[in-house]
Amino acid sequence: MELAPANEMNAPQRLNEATILLLSTVAGVDAALLRTIELHPREHNWLRAPWYGGRPGGAMVLGDRIYLSRALFHAPQGNDRTLQLQWLLLIAHEVVHVRQAADLRRGRIGFGLWAAGQYALSFLRNGRHAYSRAAFEVEAEQGRKALTALLRRTGGIHGDHLAMRCARANDLPGMRMWLTEVGAI
Ligand SMILES: [Zn+2]
Repeated sequence: MELAPANEMNAPQRLNEATILLLSTVAGVDAALLRTIELHPREHNWLRAPWYGGRPGGAMVLGDRIYLSRALFHAPQGNDRTLQLQWLLLIAHEVVHVRQAADLRRGRIGFGLWAAGQYALSFLRNGRHAYSRAAFEVEAEQGRKALTALLRRTGGIHGDHLAMRCARANDLPGMRMWLTEVGAI
């Protein structure tokens, strides 16, 4: 059995510094907290939550870990720039959940249980819109919306955007210069 390459492929990933600067600026999550985040492929996760595959799904958070669909997990290393854009927009949402989990201080499983409770409450109030209207989801979506709005007003929402290129290349000075030029910092 040849396990090593597969294990290496699925090894947890971290956000690079250029991406951390972008996300801390637009999503308002501390850079120090963003540095603790581990990205994992979803197969490593035993928990099956109702919002896992929903819209805007593709990921879930347990504490400081973000579990991604396999395609999204491998997006940063691939050549599909549209997928990389989807990855970044999704991460801008998920990092807000990481901050919520950190604020909650109940550990990885504690956040999952809390989120399930929030989802159930939202179901009573919002029925089939439970997922998108749950307060913690609305808050997380602000991260994605802020990034979308910034990209839209500075050249458009596409994988070749300068911010995307800086994130891909981990070009920290380039990212900082761009964020300064567009008035984001
Ligand atoms: Zn969410």
